[in-house]
Amino acid sequence: MPEIRESVRRMCADFPGEYWRKLDRERAYPTDFVQALTRSGFLSVLIPEEYGGSGLGLRAASVILEEIHRAGCNGAAAHAQMYTMGTLLRHGSAEQKTKYLPAIASGELRLQAFGVTEPASGTDTTRIRTFARREGETYIVNGQKVWISRAEHSDLMLLLVRTSARDDTAKASDGMSVLLVDLREAVGHGLTIRPIQTMINHATTELFIDNLKVPAANLIGEEGRGFRYILDGMNAERILIASECIGDARFFVDRASAYAREREVFGRPIGMNQAVQFPIARNYIETEAASLMVEKAAGLFDAGEPCGTEANMAKLLASEASWRAADTCLQTHGGFGFAEEYDIERKFRETRLYQVAPISTNLILSHVGTHVLQMPKSF
Ligand SMILES: Cc1cc2nc3c(=O)[nH]c(=O)nc-3n(C[C@H](O)[C@H](O)[C@H](O)COP(=O)(O)OP(=O)(O)OC[C@H]3O[C@@H](n4cnc5c(N)ncnc54)[C@H](O)[C@@H]3O)c2cc1C
Repeated sequence: MPEIRESVRRMCADFPGEYWRKLDRERAYPTDFVQALTRSGFLSVLIPEEYGGSGLGLRAASVILEEIHRAGCNGAAAHAQMYTMGTLLRHGSAEQKTKYLPAIASGELRLQAFGVTEPASGTDTTRIRTFARREGETYIVNGQKVWISRAEHSDLMLLLVRTSARDDTAKASDGMSVLLVDLREAVGHGLTIRPIQTMINHATTELFIDNLKVPAANLIGEEGRGFRYILDGMNAERILIASECIGDARFFVDRASAYAREREVFGRPIGMNQAVQFPIARNYIETEAASLMVEKAAGLFDAGEPCGTEANMAKLLASEASWRAADTCLQTHGGFGFAEEYDIERKFRETRLYQVAPISTNLILSHVGTHVLQMPKSF
């Protein structure tokens, strides 16, 4: 792992703060950065060697994203290229895997859009309304999605749809299916993508789906079992986002402690004041603890063990550690924390996302409260 960390750091050195500040101002996609990541092979570490990836596993992917974020860069523009293919890898047919995985591994095909969330259902995924009706060898899809990131920068998208109405299934989570949508054909032929401007530069969008035709051959696995298929992908996503948070937290702790050592006010470094020093020390401790949970969750994932609870706990701890470190770092910099050129206000905005997406803190607390501690569910 130290070699991976070192080579990620070297690559990130070509993308300093000014590169990200310009994109942030223009709300533009970091194409050069994503190309460099693709060329380096960092995005295909979860793809087995037989399909052209390096098969290094989630622990390696986690280290890559952590280092990207620690360097002040942002992996969100491309992180989904690493893990979205997991659903295809684990549940796709041999033919689908041979057709798509090598091209995804080389970066020739970008599969980095994952369409789950809908405006009316929110976190309650079983209530999605986007429906795919089968007609012969084609699905006709109608519905709407929101917050679908990178759809404009992806060739393929995994789309969660209902193929049976919720009321017609034994369990609410039955009757959902996963379709692989070729965005190059779909846009303008039943699919409209509308960008959403947000407080961060995230290339997220809204999708309007109107009689979109998807070949039945693009169904992943069995019809009606889609919810199960996306769940294991979500564990990988949570662990990797947690790693980005660890990277962010380390960025903030590095910057805050450096500034506290150097900045002199009242004739001494501000870091000599324990009211400045202790919060940074606490952030460091919280980050180290959260990092251990990320490592545990990634280890379980790589061993093929159940890791849903650990993935959730890692995401909660890491996103809270990064947010608290962001707040301390901003405070430590005083007025300069608000100046764009320090990159702190940008990272501060960026790291706030992870208490909401890809799953909000309350839903993780509910998972632990009900699934682990057997208390009654509120919904
Ligand atoms: C920038 C960005 C990028 C995203 N990218 C993607 C993407 O690529 N693909 C995708 O499918 N989705 C994506 N999302 C969606 C994201 O996963 C959801 O926003 C997130 O899961 C929360 O869902 P929601 O926004 O519908 O909130 P809601 O479900 O409406 O919840 C709102 C608030 O209420 C709380 N809440 C709701 N129910 C309960 C309850 N029973 N008990 C306690 N609290 C509750 C939640 O915790 C939350 O804080 C993205 C979101 C953002 C902001």
